[in-house]
Amino acid sequence: MNYYSLNKQAPNTTFKNAVIKGLAPDKGLYFPESITPLNKDFFENIDSLSHSEIAFEAIKQFVSPEIPDNILKTIVEETLSFEFPVVTLNKSISTLELFHGPTMAFKDVGARFMARCLGYFNKDNTNEVTVLVATSGDTGGAVANGFLGVKGVNVVILYPSGKVSDIQEKQLTTLGQNIKALEVHGTFDDCQAMVKTAFLDDELTSKMQLTSANSINVARWLPQLFYFMFAYKQLHNTHKNIVFSVPSGNFGNICAGMMAQQLGLPINHFVASNNANNVVTRYLISRLYEPKSSVQTISNAMDVGNPSNFIRIQEIYKNKFETLKEHVSSYSFSDDETRIALKELYTNYNYVADPHGAVGYLGCKSYLKNHPDAHCVFLETAHPTKFLDVVEDIIKEKQSLPEQIQLVIDKEKVSVKISTYDDLKAFLLNK
Ligand SMILES: *Cc1c(COP(=O)(O)O)cnc(C)c1O
Repeated sequence: MNYYSLNKQAPNTTFKNAVIKGLAPDKGLYFPESITPLNKDFFENIDSLSHSEIAFEAIKQFVSPEIPDNILKTIVEETLSFEFPVVTLNKSISTLELFHGPTMAFKDVGARFMARCLGYFNKDNTNEVTVLVATSGDTGGAVANGFLGVKGVNVVILYPSGKVSDIQEKQLTTLGQNIKALEVHGTFDDCQAMVKTAFLDDELTSKMQLTSANSINVARWLPQLFYFMFAYKQLHNTHKNIVFSVPSGNFGNICAGMMAQQLGLPINHFVASNNANNVVTRYLISRLYEPKSSVQTISNAMDVGNPSNFIRIQEIYKNKFETLKEHVSSYSFSDDETRIALKELYTNYNYVADPHGAVGYLGCKSYLKNHPDAHCVFLETAHPTKFLDVVEDIIKEKQSLPEQIQLVIDKEKVSVKISTYDDLKAFLLNK
């Protein structure tokens, strides 16, 4: 599959190039040249297919011929070696748990898939790349874990000192091997600004191939479309009229769901559930897209003021406001509402959610008010113990740590402290 830049000022390129470069030379996001819907049989017979079989069929057109079928089969099998259970709360609401991977973040799937693609492209040791990421918490751990030990890929993660949770910090800083953690004296925005400066630094990029591992990268973004198919497989016999509520930050996950819909998955509607960072909620009301600086919330992985994938969503719906509105609703919720929702989930359903999932649950409730016949699935994007302080404070009950978390908690943190862009550059050049 070839990809074009949404800025339309760069040549089309292959899947391989799109993955290695991350962003097009004109700074546009890459988008596939075509989307061919899967056969109707595929969805009718989905019950008989395993997760890997579903994923293979769904992603094949986007990665072939550069990744041959037999390699792709192995990549999806390795990527998806854990569960994606749906838990039904009542006749109208279910949740799809995306936190059963090694770092208990939904980003595990995208990171593992992308890492294996890069590993394959470097099989002859000709395409060594450095993955540079800034993280406010969850991305870093998933990327670190997904890329651990992948030959020819060096990973450098920048995180704001003292501003990620202890568990998240341990997930970033204890792996070793090809994973390096830089502890930045500053905020997440400072980390992100340094990463951006690095990508634009000609001296640096002439000496090394830098790429990103956020949902801008097609190999991290597209595999997220599997989730919607896995949920459909589990629910379609018992529920018609399935709607997904996706707690959204950069809108990569929901946009992948829309790609699943383009492939023919019978999904009716999407709910983009936002915290106070609500640029898309406001857009759907006013038609005005007005990015703002992000504000801090308890669902901090969604604290994004200018969602990078919104431009892909507009492309999917052909830049038509009416079409977009037909397919997407969006609601925004405060931290207080989120806390009440978390408590309500626990009291009414004995379900412990994390703050992001709780925002998704609120999105379902808002949508169902006017669409009582729908069955709304909210995505649970992180395990509640990743946000332990908030969760325990609300439900007033101690949570036991899952095995994945216990494994890292006692390991020794290794990080390099930096303060300025020059520190980062020196680190990259001396490596
Ligand atoms: C990244 C993240 C999100 C937001 O996903 P996007 O694809 O950026 O919209 C939601 N919840 C959690 C826990 C996350 O880590």
